[in-house]
Amino acid sequence: MIYQRSSALFAEAEKVIPGGVNSPVRAFKGVGGTPIFVKEAKGAYLYDEDGNRLIDYINSWGPMILGHAFEPVVKAVVEKAKKGTSFGMPTEIETKIAELAVSMVPNIDKIRFVNSGTEACMSAVRLARGFTGRDKIIKFAGCYHGHSDSFLIQAGSGASTFGTPNSPGVTQGTAKDTLLANYNDIENVKALIASNPNEIACIIIEPVAGNMGCIPPKEGFLEALRQLCDTNRILLVFDEVMTGFRLAKGGAQQLFNINADIVCFGKVIGGGLPVGAFAARNEIMNHLAPLGPVYQAGTLSGNPLAMAAGLAMLTALNNDSEIFNRLAEKTEYLHKGMAKVLNDNKITHTINRVGSMISVHFSEGEVTDFNSSAKGNNATFKAFFHGMLKEGVYIAPSAFETWFITDALTYEDLDFTIKAVDKVAQTL
Ligand code: PLP
Repeated sequence: MIYQRSSALFAEAEKVIPGGVNSPVRAFKGVGGTPIFVKEAKGAYLYDEDGNRLIDYINSWGPMILGHAFEPVVKAVVEKAKKGTSFGMPTEIETKIAELAVSMVPNIDKIRFVNSGTEACMSAVRLARGFTGRDKIIKFAGCYHGHSDSFLIQAGSGASTFGTPNSPGVTQGTAKDTLLANYNDIENVKALIASNPNEIACIIIEPVAGNMGCIPPKEGFLEALRQLCDTNRILLVFDEVMTGFRLAKGGAQQLFNINADIVCFGKVIGGGLPVGAFAARNEIMNHLAPLGPVYQAGTLSGNPLAMAAGLAMLTALNNDSEIFNRLAEKTEYLHKGMAKVLNDNKITHTINRVGSMISVHFSEGEVTDFNSSAKGNNATFKAFFHGMLKEGVYIAPSAFETWFITDALTYEDLDFTIKAVDKVAQTL
């Protein structure tokens, strides 16, 4: 593969954009090498500025669940754009997508749209604090809820990749209100609650963690959290920015049959445009301005282009009764194929998978939390990443990220990928 033009474009970008990118993980710092500049994408494939074609397993970090440039989304956006791109006034399409989302997701009455997953989680926590009158929150090490100050305490994703899970610029005052627990460790959560009686507003969690690789909740863990929250009048916030409209129509709440008190969305809900949302029952949502005192706002929130893209995406998912089974089957096929060739080549690894989220850790034993995820062999991961890239397969440029399977991937693409894993494994 040649990356001449990508290299030149990156050099230009570095002069005017910090690190040449608008989101750190794109800089490939975790794996080294030159970031790839994308020219266009269609279905399962990315086409870069040098004319290389890559099978895409990241899909804009999740949103493109039905493949790139999905026709109904493109059409909806183009048609909307001709009628004006933003009004800062109510539009009918906001209600339409809200109605559809509320009909698809269990246990929510109302939903508020924002512009990113970060905003959704930040607003959800403010709402939880306003509703309960308490200040502290519990988050889990290695979970990522966006780059709002309260969450940059042992954060996963890019924050882990760059070794800044606790970012400078987050004040001690903010940090003291974020209590940290180990994922899948209910005793740890119990101890935190016991030592902070009547002070915890909410527990925020990725119901399937996706920002330290893919880490499923252990059997009974989410149920135990639900029970602890009920007993202690703490709100349970599911950050479904990754899992929402991906693991099932109703997300992780539906998949695990557990009701959260507040649910956060992003990624798929915007069909590839900048959208986030948070939702809850009336009892909680009615505390939000202008009905209640908890303030939250946005110039571009509910933007017509974003709503058109999201509505087209959710409609397609809602109308396809087999989509989530199909995605899970493709992911299982990839899992089994990769496991076989990695085993054949005697590469120590652990693959985690839930629905259409999957990740490969180059470590022995179960990967169940941030510590076990961080034990992965980073040198092997880097070699694996670059080997796959050479074969024309784009996986996440960091060991702390999940791969997202899209419906546009064919079984031929999956076989091609498994063969590539076999080839690369022989070089590791
Ligand atoms: N929550 C989770 C679980 C995420 O994975 C992310 C982003 O990857 C976010 C929140 C933040 O979303 P955004 O990047 O849209 O601000």
